[in-house]
Amino acid sequence: MIRVGQGFDLHRLESGDGITLGGLWIPCEYRLVAHSDGDVVLHALMDAMLGALALGDIGQLFPDTDPTYRGADSAELMRVVRARCLDKGFTPYNLDLTILAERPKIAPVRDAMRQCVADLMSMPLDRVSVKATTTERLGFIGRGEAIAVMANCLMHSHEG
Ligand SMILES: [Zn+2]
Repeated sequence: MIRVGQGFDLHRLESGDGITLGGLWIPCEYRLVAHSDGDVVLHALMDAMLGALALGDIGQLFPDTDPTYRGADSAELMRVVRARCLDKGFTPYNLDLTILAERPKIAPVRDAMRQCVADLMSMPLDRVSVKATTTERLGFIGRGEAIAVMANCLMHSHEG
């Protein structure tokens, strides 16, 4: 049995000392504004996994009105989501992530991020894709005001 899901997330950028993307800390002059650590990559990915199994979204699972999740480590939240999926008998088979960002530049950290996501998901590297694009300096992403991520995830069941 296979199930496919998609996820989307976006967070605002402001000046800071670094951002976490796909569990990877990237020192830079920005930070992502969020209730949690703002890991927009893992947020989109969690929504794709939950979507594949029709389990709602991360907003339902981890409400931003709940102080428990203030500054939450998204890698920890991912562990919860993976456990939920495992309960349903499914694990991710492959992931495809597209990062929309003007800044920071993704290319220099892309491979490290890919490895980081693969480790976090206990998946082979060749089933984890990280792509990046700018928006040709157009709109709020193009002006470097936000980072958005689109995620697709194929889940497969252990039985059969
Ligand atoms: Zn988010």
